[in-house]
Amino acid sequence: MSVYLDFNSSAPIDRRVLDYMIDIYKNTVGNADSRTHDFGDNARKVVENARSQVARLLDINKDEVFFTSGATESNNIAIQGLKEYGLKEGKKHIITTSIEHKAVLESVKAMEKDGFEVNFLDPDFSGRVSAKTVLDAVRDDTLLVSVMHVNNESGIIQPIQEIGNALEEKRVLFHIDATQSFGKLVDELQTVKYNMLSMSAHKIGGPQGVGALVLRKHRYKLPPVKPIMYGGQQEHGIRPGTIPVALVGGLGKACEIAQIEHKQNQDKCRKIKNVLVGELKDSGLKYRFNGDQNYCIPSTMNLCIDGVSSEALMISSKQYCSVSNGSACNSNSYKPSYVLTAMGIPEEQINNSIRISWGAEESIDEISSSFNNLLQVAKDLIW
Ligand code: PMP
Repeated sequence: MSVYLDFNSSAPIDRRVLDYMIDIYKNTVGNADSRTHDFGDNARKVVENARSQVARLLDINKDEVFFTSGATESNNIAIQGLKEYGLKEGKKHIITTSIEHKAVLESVKAMEKDGFEVNFLDPDFSGRVSAKTVLDAVRDDTLLVSVMHVNNESGIIQPIQEIGNALEEKRVLFHIDATQSFGKLVDELQTVKYNMLSMSAHKIGGPQGVGALVLRKHRYKLPPVKPIMYGGQQEHGIRPGTIPVALVGGLGKACEIAQIEHKQNQDKCRKIKNVLVGELKDSGLKYRFNGDQNYCIPSTMNLCIDGVSSEALMISSKQYCSVSNGSACNSNSYKPSYVLTAMGIPEEQINNSIRISWGAEESIDEISSSFNNLLQVAKDLIW
């Protein structure tokens, strides 16, 4: 069977999360916002417990956590929810990077249509957008800086600590898309200064279709984000709609597990990466990593194998392992990755690049032997 090595697209659900969710589906009836009976109270207990579990993992208050359908929605609310405030205050400048997820890129483009000016900053060859580049772009009328923590394609960690520290003094709102780091780079996310943060449960063994937008209070006040959908007062009106109790419970459980296990998970992921790098070295293939590996998360590798088309490699090695050549959200487009392009990587190298991403619960032996098979296939494909 093919070994799944595409965790950055979506990680398999943790068995313990699934069991907890099944229990909720079986035993918790009702709407968490019903106030007239015990069923509502019980559903609300599950939701509020999950809110505490998310908050604990980020070391924030539970009233700063707002459940959404996932990071796409969180990013949309964080950015487009600032429209009214930005227009009213005459703050119509937004800074982001050219390597953000489309949920950020397309949200800021929607803001451009409403008269906002957006700077899209490029990374250098390392895959990082320097803090200086970001901070030099800040103006008096800058409303928002939105920078992802870890890039989903390259795995490269962005300098959010430095950016957050500097922005705090400038009264500019800072949004972090932490979808690829949440539950993994736990210490960093507990200490970084930010106003808004987006995440999705399914990247850390939780269910698909649920996530959170974190809005940090400053002097007891939430950031000036308005809802972008209307229809109910759930989640303080920030995200109307019936709360999916079992999904939210699953997110909470995944956070509880990550809180206990993230350190050992990162160690195991690093071990796996070392094994894969060792196999690459021994393979005799000519390869290079996309992005400076000193800044790469230990569960991702974006790799160019010289002379081997990624499309051909992915198809020919499918029976051994399942990898990708970029974000699943764009994988039906045949355009070269915009992330690798922005890093200054030549198109030919991009066409020969694959992304491999894994999790800690996988067996090192299985990953290692499936990757070895992929490398053997690569050798046969060199032209
Ligand atoms: N941001 C980043 C960095 C991501 O990797 C993803 C998922 N690929 C998202 C946002 C969107 O997450 P979701 O599809 O769960 O809404």
